[in-house]
Amino acid sequence: MEFKTIIEPFRIKSVEPIRMTTADERAHFLREAHFNPFLLPSDKVLIDLLTDSGTSAMSSRQWAAMMLGDESYAGAKSWERFFAEVNDLTGMPHILPTHQGRAAERILYGYLGGKGKYFFSNTHFDTTRANIEFSGGTAIDMPCPEAKDYDSDAPFKGNMDTEKLEAHIRSVGAANVAAVILTVTNNSGGGQPVSMANARAVAGICKKHHIPFVLDCCRIAENAYFVRHNEPDCAHLSYREIAQEMFALADAAVMSIKKDGLVNMGGFLALRDHALSDACTNLLIITEGFATYGGLSGRDMEAIAVGLEEVFEADYLHYRIRSTAYLGERIRDRGVPVIFPIGGHAVYVDAQGLYPHIPLHEFPGQALVCDLYEVGGIRSVEVGSVMFGKYDEQGGFVPAPQELVRLALPRRVYTQSHLDYVIEVFEEIVRRKESARGFRIVHEPPFLRHFTAHFERL
Ligand SMILES: *Cc1c(COP(=O)(O)O)cnc(C)c1O
Repeated sequence: MEFKTIIEPFRIKSVEPIRMTTADERAHFLREAHFNPFLLPSDKVLIDLLTDSGTSAMSSRQWAAMMLGDESYAGAKSWERFFAEVNDLTGMPHILPTHQGRAAERILYGYLGGKGKYFFSNTHFDTTRANIEFSGGTAIDMPCPEAKDYDSDAPFKGNMDTEKLEAHIRSVGAANVAAVILTVTNNSGGGQPVSMANARAVAGICKKHHIPFVLDCCRIAENAYFVRHNEPDCAHLSYREIAQEMFALADAAVMSIKKDGLVNMGGFLALRDHALSDACTNLLIITEGFATYGGLSGRDMEAIAVGLEEVFEADYLHYRIRSTAYLGERIRDRGVPVIFPIGGHAVYVDAQGLYPHIPLHEFPGQALVCDLYEVGGIRSVEVGSVMFGKYDEQGGFVPAPQELVRLALPRRVYTQSHLDYVIEVFEEIVRRKESARGFRIVHEPPFLRHFTAHFERL
């Protein structure tokens, strides 16, 4: 028979203690951090759901592989293993190792971008948008219409709106479109998966107009799980084969290996085009390192080569996707509005739906992030108008399209009892929701302000 309880498909070999805190201590720590959880020291956090990026627990096989790290400057054995793994996965001949995803983004989008250049995506991740805008280019999001309906249980709400894509290409002219970027899964759009059919359609449009098609593939294994279980024509393929089929559609791929690489640091840029690879390799050598290590040490590359294999294991992916759904479904049952269905790496709470009395310019998402910390020591991140809000030319506030709070689950780190605790904290948040208060920004930098902004409670 099949049992309901999802057990972690691993035993714990090494533990890291968590320091317990009281509500009074947390109120004090939060004030000291200017109500921005990014500024909290991690030992003041009980359950850290800030990000799934670089927070994975490595396996004993990965730790063992690190001892094999070849730290030679050029042509290291570790580079050969890293290259073989990434090349087999992506099918792309040119692989540029970077220290993390945004370094690969800066190289590729810095080269392809510039003033008058357009990038279209299902949803640009924040560092993607920042790199494009920093180059002088314009980034436009085109999520599919179902993405906006939080209650629709459409299985592929991470898809790109292909009609809009065609219309935008016509309106700006294909020659001005630097690239189309499919973010898989769609992180900022709710961690929702992208279907193989959608990837094929986007690839077809790009081919027709001679526009480079880039896969931002940070969570390609998690995406493959959803494709296999919800897209009948892919049900006979393994998770890894599904990923390989999606890579086969693309001209380039950018990956933050800190996600589905099951490591703490790393990234790559994979390319098909030889000339583009030459240009990007020059930038890699100037800013990251020589072509056979980029921004990585030999031991990093060893751990990555193992992690990119382990992440496609069926038991791991089942546990991963089901435990995220466990958290999301249970808080939803307790009256917390969440994006549904639950995505792969995170639960996205609709903060505006939970706190309808807080106006958008008072940041309902920031309010929830602060409440989760004060009530339960849980660290989460606002994905709303703090992260994506703007000011128009007259200085008027332009809110983000959605006010979300992301509870991202580190890979292989927390157990079901940790998630049961988070669920209990949400019960308390729901009980006291009417008394939640908004925030005002008192200090902000010009780019990626959510990392360092200071707030005051209203
Ligand atoms: C994390 C992430 C990036 C940036 O990668 P870093 O390793 O954080 O620099 C880019 N795109 C997506 C979709 C991501 O999730």
